[in-house]
Amino acid sequence: MVNKTLEQVANPDVIIVGGGIAGLAAALRCQDRGLTALVLEAEPRVGGRMTTDRVNGFRIDRGVTLLGKKFTRMRSLARRLGLAPRMHDGSFKLGLEDGHTVRSFRDRRPDDLLRDSGLSWQAKRASFRFLFDLCRNQTRLAHGDSQRALHLDRENVAQYLAHSAGGSELLTRFFEPSMCGPVGGSVANLSAEVFFQTIRNTLAAGFWCVDDGVDLIPETIAKQVPVQTSAHVIQVRRKGPQVMVEALVEGRPRRYTARGCIFAIPGQLVPALCPDLPEWVVQPLSHTRYASMASAHVALRKPPQAAYSGYGFAGERMDGVQALEFEHLRSPFLCPQGRGMISIYYKQTPTFPVIASSDDALRTSAIQLMRKTFPDIAKDILFVHLVRWPVGIALFPAGRLTEMAALRTRLAAWDAPLDFCGDYLDGLSSEGALCTGEQAADRMITRLNDYRPLERVVARLAGCA
Ligand SMILES: Cc1cc2nc3c(=O)[nH]c(=O)nc-3n(C[C@H](O)[C@H](O)[C@H](O)COP(=O)(O)OP(=O)(O)OC[C@H]3O[C@@H](n4cnc5c(N)ncnc54)[C@H](O)[C@@H]3O)c2cc1C
Repeated sequence: MVNKTLEQVANPDVIIVGGGIAGLAAALRCQDRGLTALVLEAEPRVGGRMTTDRVNGFRIDRGVTLLGKKFTRMRSLARRLGLAPRMHDGSFKLGLEDGHTVRSFRDRRPDDLLRDSGLSWQAKRASFRFLFDLCRNQTRLAHGDSQRALHLDRENVAQYLAHSAGGSELLTRFFEPSMCGPVGGSVANLSAEVFFQTIRNTLAAGFWCVDDGVDLIPETIAKQVPVQTSAHVIQVRRKGPQVMVEALVEGRPRRYTARGCIFAIPGQLVPALCPDLPEWVVQPLSHTRYASMASAHVALRKPPQAAYSGYGFAGERMDGVQALEFEHLRSPFLCPQGRGMISIYYKQTPTFPVIASSDDALRTSAIQLMRKTFPDIAKDILFVHLVRWPVGIALFPAGRLTEMAALRTRLAAWDAPLDFCGDYLDGLSSEGALCTGEQAADRMITRLNDYRPLERVVARLAGCA
């Protein structure tokens, strides 16, 4: 694939603001359809919440870690990028600490839930109903396709489970402790549709990983589409048929002109950048909310004896702690040979505000948790690497997917050269983000309706595209 230099795309057809997976997928789709796209990314690297830090031989996935086998767009994209040899399927075992015992559950084994000795028979009956509804709806639950199951978006998980005796026990003793990490906080308040989607696409399907770190996917896309990093967009305005984009590129002001612009940044940030938006766009974008989160990645001289890829707490837990991942089991290639790593995911609480708390406070909490939970490894801690996400996982209370589906329908009929993508538009996962990027690009391509593939190919061959 020819990689255009940044000079060649000084006047691109489409500017994409934000180089996370949604923006990069949008750029790739535009390029595939013959439009030149330029991605402007504020940070010095692409990927956004899909990035990897490399520290002392450990690869630390900062945001995205769990890629479900039903992430079909992400899988085919990774294969297309030539990453097939780096993709590995893995098995996942979840441990739930409950007093002095640890209850365990395997991915793709719903029978583990029915056999769980920690649940009453009523709770098991409620889980049977949940599994039945999951099977009934499963063809409608792909991430990035949520308009197909909006009947499930009318209730949150607590309301849905309240229809069954034993439902609230199932919620507090299984779903909350096992899924609060992946959904960024309370399962009870989450749209039932997003919850069904998350289970269907991950635990029920199994997982895969990228051996050198999940950032291989965005970094490889960025080698194939033009990207300007360290480019912080400060304003986007329409001027006649064109869009003017003002950015600070490595601190210096720069203006770009394009025929269209796709915002691939968190929704609530868009209205301040683009004063031209109509109210029917501003309102739903302004309702975008994210859970603020932090993680502490504890590198270990040797792995602990416990053999769980994921770990949660059904009983008492330390302030802010949501879930743990054993990285040497989740994705064995991320740690140097013989070493281990446990990632601890925190949520913001009134008593432990993890975004504002000092590095020392977070490190101390992480080490205390290790000592308390896995005393056998307390002396093997090599270092603790910290990550903070003020904009963490997109929040979807009941009704939010419906609001976003209505927005997408109106966008499809809009004639302005502006569009939007990102996880907040359709689910809380990287797969949903990717799908929204491709969908925004498709809408933009249709809108810039003088798109003529044959003429563009001829022009490109003549060297003037
Ligand atoms: C801790 C954590 C764990 C997660 N785990 C998983 C998981 O296991 N599996 C999964 O599928 N998903 C997971 N997610 C969710 C996943 O990370 C996101 O859904 C996905 O990465 C969002 O992609 P995006 O492109 O929409 O947004 P982002 O990745 O946030 O990209 C937006 C980009 O826009 C840039 N930007 C913002 N403002 C500007 C501006 N003014 N000018 C230029 N650029 C700008 C940002 O720097 C950023 O790079 C997790 C998220 C977090 C925080």
